[in-house]
Amino acid sequence: MATSPGRVHPRGQLGGAACRWGSWCGTDRVPPSRTGRRVFDEVWRSQGEDVAPGVAAALLHLAAAGDQPVLVVSRPRPPEAPERPRVRWANATLAALLGLAPGDLVDLAVGRVLRGADAPGALVRERCTRFAVEAVTASGEARATEVAAWPVPERVSGFGAVSERLHVGAALAAEDHWVLQLVSPDDERSRAALRAAEERFATLAQDSPVPTLVSDVGARLSRVNDAFAALLGVPAPQLCGTGWLAHVLDDERARLAQAVADVLAGERVTFDTRLRTAAGLVRWVTVRLAPSRTPGYGAGFVGTVEDVTDRRARENRLAYQAQHDLLTGLPNRLALLEHLGELLPDGLCPDAVPGAPVPPLTAPVGVLMVDLDDFKTVNDGLGPEAGDAVLVEVARRLVRTVRAGDLVSRPGGDEFVLVCHDLPDEAAVEATARRVLDALVPPVEVNGLRLRVGASVGVVMLTGGPGGAEEVVRDVGIATHEAKAAGGGRWALLDEEVRQRARRSLRLVADLREALAHGTLDVHYQPVVRPGTPTRPDAQLLSVEALARWRHPELGPIDPATFIDVAERANLVPVLDAHVLAVACRDLATWRTDAAAAGLPHVPRRVAVNVSAVSLSADGFADGVRRTVAAAGLELDDVCLEVTETALASDLRACRAVLEELRRDGARVAIDDFGTGYSSLAYLVDLPADHLKVDRSFVRDLRGGRGSSGGARGGPARAVAAAVVSLARTLGLDVVAEGVETHEQNAVLVELGCEAVQGYLYARPMSREDLWRVLCDGGTLAPQQPGLPAPRQVPA
Ligand code: C2E
Ligand code: CA
Ligand code: CA
Repeated sequence: MATSPGRVHPRGQLGGAACRWGSWCGTDRVPPSRTGRRVFDEVWRSQGEDVAPGVAAALLHLAAAGDQPVLVVSRPRPPEAPERPRVRWANATLAALLGLAPGDLVDLAVGRVLRGADAPGALVRERCTRFAVEAVTASGEARATEVAAWPVPERVSGFGAVSERLHVGAALAAEDHWVLQLVSPDDERSRAALRAAEERFATLAQDSPVPTLVSDVGARLSRVNDAFAALLGVPAPQLCGTGWLAHVLDDERARLAQAVADVLAGERVTFDTRLRTAAGLVRWVTVRLAPSRTPGYGAGFVGTVEDVTDRRARENRLAYQAQHDLLTGLPNRLALLEHLGELLPDGLCPDAVPGAPVPPLTAPVGVLMVDLDDFKTVNDGLGPEAGDAVLVEVARRLVRTVRAGDLVSRPGGDEFVLVCHDLPDEAAVEATARRVLDALVPPVEVNGLRLRVGASVGVVMLTGGPGGAEEVVRDVGIATHEAKAAGGGRWALLDEEVRQRARRSLRLVADLREALAHGTLDVHYQPVVRPGTPTRPDAQLLSVEALARWRHPELGPIDPATFIDVAERANLVPVLDAHVLAVACRDLATWRTDAAAAGLPHVPRRVAVNVSAVSLSADGFADGVRRTVAAAGLELDDVCLEVTETALASDLRACRAVLEELRRDGARVAIDDFGTGYSSLAYLVDLPADHLKVDRSFVRDLRGGRGSSGGARGGPARAVAAAVVSLARTLGLDVVAEGVETHEQNAVLVELGCEAVQGYLYARPMSREDLWRVLCDGGTLAPQQPGLPAPRQVPA
């Protein structure tokens, strides 16, 4: 051990040594732990958490002894080892006291320096002992003193690593030891102090329900109360005089030793640790230690031990519940996100500089989302208990499908997310996805029923690129949606194309929302006309259908089918429909005023708007329509609401009530795309409608002449169209034929008695300005068969 030059006493100089005697006698004046703590820290650094209990105990004794004279001596165990105890290590205080260097003491028989320590019966007990000796200095002077001796129970193998620094021979590593500390020769004084301490303890702690302990030096217990003894299930006398480290679980020992070293150095410490009781039970305890010093001994501490096993169990239960789905016991969404966060570079280095290169994942990780295909049917049809049973069984099967170390979680509903490690290539991904699908093939038995549970599986690979856990879950949801859209019962890997498509769609949602908020979504109008006849080929404008138009600032015009689909997914359809209605009412009112001013004979009788089922079933729809119509100065009779059969069928009762209410007040209702939905005769009879718009798929195949099958004239399409027109007439409904593109179709429809048509033959949807021009031309539209060459100019 290095000691400052001023403090080293030249070998054999009695004067210096005498002076040292004085300074350590009153040990209560010595500041706690300097040298000893340093030894503790040095050994700790080299041994770390692996330190053996015996080493820890020895070190704590040294830490407690501080700058008081201490030596470590070998502990031969008779009869196997008949040699006498020898000095293995001494601290600088002791060496200086004897007028020697610490190295000079090593290997001396202990009786040479502490006369009486080698006496029969002195160092034989396996417990702490205290006896009188004579310390012999280098010059041969002998001083009466007392020694406190602590056996260090286990082999002090850990000393080997620092033996040189400590000047301890290599032999130390293979032996048991005594730690000997010279205590004050002022026996009366320290004994009185001990007695006082004992009395204080007895008064304060003996009957206290709080487990309490006192250590007079190191980690050695000198007193414990009954509550502490009861906690460990060991009688108090058996605990005193021994280290209690034996009752601490192996993997907690290092932490406990550190904490004790801190308290010996004068700090208050509180920590949680686990103790093992005599019955073998493990208890979680909160230990609170405060330093205390017993005169004549050295640094010790007093402490209380609180059994917190039950509280921790409660806390653990709550923590478990916060991270787990209670039905299946699987980790929940929160736990999934945390797990992914740990795997992702963003999660690994939260302080990472944005844009800085991210470390690659060591092995590719696949994230699979399993979405049950018809779970809603089970839940709605058989009840939530049956649904729960299915989910539990699916969870059980999924857990069996993956490898140890993979995660199976249930973020919610009928979705499960698996995080599978080490999927090196697409073949491994496919094999895993197929294993998952196969696991769900055998039917699930619920209440005696054998249910088939299909699933769609989406997969994303963690690439190590930027992006958080939420994004991964969103992406795997997109992949699952792809698998479902492809028919279910299959798996889909999120490739770049799908990802791009999903990104585009997300962007469209945001842009459409903005267009609606700023009212920049436009409306075009397609005339509905009385069709031209061979004698009067021009058609007469009856009304117009308002059709939404969206010109994206960067992408240009977007097809209505696309943006209506976007609006549906983003729940924007009611806003869109309301916007179109408002614009259409305003335009109709303007045309009427302007036409009256210009003396024009024809204006559209009414404007038709498309209304989706979600709009119709939204709260306050009817009132909204009334307010909008009135705000434009129109009557309900000026508008027609176009509703598809599918919309009506999905929520017939609620929609019917709304439509009937508006019809009573004058609004018209048209069944749009008629023939493509669920029409049955019974259903048609009491539809709350005024018009049937025959879908263009029926009009497309209309031809004049005899059909190839030799059936009715014009083929089966004509027969169907004829039936629809006559049916509508029987039911008192007006028929509008959609998608009329050719003269031939027009001719057949006229022949069948259809009084209103709509289609490219007469006009495409047009801007309000173009429609105004049509009105200025008298509201007549000449047929312009698309795709036909312009009439040839015959030279005069
Ligand atoms: P729809 O209600 O059946 O509208 C008629 C569609 O047929 C329009 O397509 C129109 O341009 C097209 N069309 C008209 N004549 C012909 C023809 O001779 N040949 C062909 N091939 N097509 C013709 P558009 O404007 O693309 O609208 C598509 C669908 O989008 C509409 O079908 C309607 O269901 C929906 N939609 C449009 N605007 C709105 C709206 O404001 N609200 C709601 N909910 N849906 C709307
Ligand atoms: Ca329509
Ligand atoms: Ca239609």
